[in-house]
Amino acid sequence: MTAKKIRTIEELGEFGLIDLLTSGFVSQQESTKIGIGDDAAVIDHGSYYQVITTDLLLEGIHFDLMYSPLKHLGFKAVVVSISDVYAMNAAPRQITVSVAISGKFSVEAMEEFYEGVKLACERFKVDLVGGDTSASVTGLLISVTAIGTALKSELSLRSGAKNNNLICVTGDLGASYMGLKILEREKQLHAEDPGFQPELKGYDYVLERFLKPEPRVDVLLKLKEAGVTPCAMIDISDGLSSELLHICKASECGCQVYEERIPIAEETLQAAEEFQLEPLVAALHGGEDYELLFTVPLSDFEKVSAISGVSVIGNITDQKGRALLVGNDGNAIPLQAQGWNAYTQ
Ligand code: ADP
Ligand code: MG
Repeated sequence: MTAKKIRTIEELGEFGLIDLLTSGFVSQQESTKIGIGDDAAVIDHGSYYQVITTDLLLEGIHFDLMYSPLKHLGFKAVVVSISDVYAMNAAPRQITVSVAISGKFSVEAMEEFYEGVKLACERFKVDLVGGDTSASVTGLLISVTAIGTALKSELSLRSGAKNNNLICVTGDLGASYMGLKILEREKQLHAEDPGFQPELKGYDYVLERFLKPEPRVDVLLKLKEAGVTPCAMIDISDGLSSELLHICKASECGCQVYEERIPIAEETLQAAEEFQLEPLVAALHGGEDYELLFTVPLSDFEKVSAISGVSVIGNITDQKGRALLVGNDGNAIPLQAQGWNAYTQ
């Protein structure tokens, strides 16, 4: 008798696990336009699309309350969720927020968290319409579901990239990862010497990018004004590399991006130097930037180039599965996904 092989989740990885668990589900509803596999699910409501996405944040896995103020965390939890709505080129409308709270949290602490949620609701014009509350054995668990709407002609899926499309990113990349590195360093120093006072001056930009990310709704508005609808779009939560591979897989294409064109802020370069870290690694694999990665037809080059906060970093190719990074030395290397993976950290 052969023993049944038990696999670890680490062997499969996060995306392998999702594929395995969900592959047997057959759609029963005509209105389900897009199910699993994009930034949000898409429901056909006849005259418009509704998009729905949900995200889970766990203390000790996604955040550390040693250095994440609860108000910031409330704001960020909403941003993480509505960023996926924007990535569909949709407008967020409502959210639900569920929390499981352990005994160590006071009423005041949870009020602080909800102040952050409220700030995000006001800023991004979304309504908190429900949720659930429970006790938790250890730590804080947060789940945010966001609902949005899109015009049928404007929806942008991961699968829409076409050969010769330009690949664009908003803002700059890698800053959030360097912010996290700095906070981890200060936490470590504090653990070694409880009298140590964290020195965070001069790191404002990278810290803010990690603690209080902003979704790029501003760029989406500018694209709309310029008459540009992204062919494919995804938000950068796991790092540029991983997201490019998602677009290539969903669109059955390849891509090449150029190292010299990847936008990295001066503050990120400085912090990376301090840690003797290659800034490109932070930009490709750091994650949590919540910038947008999208593709547009070649004919929109002038229009996207004129929009501040957008960088054209490469192009889509018809070489399915070949995602390449062209280095400053001219050599092309395959892009690999080393984005954040909860099961290996
Ligand atoms: P994102 O990084 O944009 O939040 P994810 O990588 O978390 O997206 O998820 C990829 C896709 O898999 C999404 O369509 C999501 O809804 C789906 N998904 C993730 N976990 C599960 C699950 N446990 N059951 C069903 N679908 C899931
Ligand atoms: Mg996403």
